[in-house]
Amino acid sequence: MRILIAGAGIGGLTAALTLLNKGFDVAIYERSLQLEEVGAGIQIGPNGTKVLYALGLGAALAQAAFKPQAAEMRLGDSGRVIFSLPLGESIEKRYHSPYLNIHRADLHRILVDAVRQKSPNAIHLGYEVKELHQTDARVTLHFLNGESAQGDVLVGADGVRSVIRKELFDIEDGQFTGMAAWRMTIPTHRLPKNLVPPNATVWVGAGKHVVTYYLRGGELVNLVGVVEQVDWPYDGWTCRGNKHDILASYEGWHPTIRQIMEAGDETEYYQWALRELPPLATWSKGRATLLGDACHAMLPFMAQGAVMAIEDAWVLAAKLAAYPQDIAKALQQYEGTRKPRTTKVQATARRNGQLYHQTTPSKQLLFYSPLWLVSRLTPNFFASQLDWLFAEDVTRIS
Ligand SMILES: Cc1cc2nc3c(=O)[nH]c(=O)nc-3n(C[C@H](O)[C@H](O)[C@H](O)COP(=O)(O)OP(=O)(O)OC[C@H]3O[C@@H](n4cnc5c(N)ncnc54)[C@H](O)[C@@H]3O)c2cc1C
Repeated sequence: MRILIAGAGIGGLTAALTLLNKGFDVAIYERSLQLEEVGAGIQIGPNGTKVLYALGLGAALAQAAFKPQAAEMRLGDSGRVIFSLPLGESIEKRYHSPYLNIHRADLHRILVDAVRQKSPNAIHLGYEVKELHQTDARVTLHFLNGESAQGDVLVGADGVRSVIRKELFDIEDGQFTGMAAWRMTIPTHRLPKNLVPPNATVWVGAGKHVVTYYLRGGELVNLVGVVEQVDWPYDGWTCRGNKHDILASYEGWHPTIRQIMEAGDETEYYQWALRELPPLATWSKGRATLLGDACHAMLPFMAQGAVMAIEDAWVLAAKLAAYPQDIAKALQQYEGTRKPRTTKVQATARRNGQLYHQTTPSKQLLFYSPLWLVSRLTPNFFASQLDWLFAEDVTRIS
């Protein structure tokens, strides 16, 4: 069976790898001329690392990533810790897989290498999907370069602005959420020693928050700053920002945050519109389906968008392998298994945004004091609240 994949992001590449492992013939079509990823970090919870380890990528990941010691929430101005949830060895023991922070470019490279090792010519660059046609027997992709490709199944892994989604269901780009993210990675040696805690830290404040963590074994510090913003005046989705603007957005914030922001050079600040999709009525039509941000783009406040794409990839390959003669059934089971979970993660991420951005000191006291108290009285409480997410092991699905 020949499977076409539109998009060589984290979702499309993981899908290619899981499908190649099941013995399918796979062709990925990526619009970019070069395989590259933005200069930013990504967190991969144990539910995601279980899949990546099952795909044989554990050693490469361990070499490139950083294992944070805790997930903590702090007040953005004073730095006071609201709660801290042990990660490191503790989470690895609880869920039998690690929690990793990794540079997106490193994860992307690891996936590209693994795909090419299995199928050296599977990835086709410079192929931007324009439209698709399908019959009962075949699906055909047409590209902007005038070429076309035929297969038995199509996977639209072409992100939140998916052309495949538009073609299948006439649903436009994900909506702007009223929030924009600053993203930067800087070499740790530019900062005072031990300035940044070895944790995945969310620093919260009125209408904005910041996330900090290390990458590449501690060589780089990653900072994401999310600010509420009425509109997004730019055409592009990734824009260069500047030091003056990011510092102005975080006036009065903790010296650790401001020192990281100060330490960038002018090429290292990016701004990114945050978009999400409402849960779709259906992901599949005929021989075509969607995966990753193309069908469930979400706010990044659970650090699970890419992880959900990774889980999707495993389940899709398992279902196609289980029902190779009945594609409709395979796609129906894929969607049925995945949609309730991705919808729950989308909703939880949205709620986290509200929790982080409490607008007044009295609201902060109201919402954060119970968290502070619970984390001191029953330190295991927060870990147990995440079992539904992290204990999931889709690699058991075959
Ligand atoms: C600030 C921020 C922080 C985040 N942090 C995390 C995190 O810590 N953990 C986590 O799990 N997730 C995180 N995410 C979410 C994560 O980045 C996305 O969920 C993930 O990248 C989705 O992967 P994807 O492969 O579905 O789509 P994409 O990464 O968007 O890849 C789509 C690919 O398709 C290609 N493409 C697009 N259109 C076409 C076309 N017409 N023809 C051919 N190719 C096409 C694109 O060039 C691209 O290569 C974060 C997101 C943001 C914005």
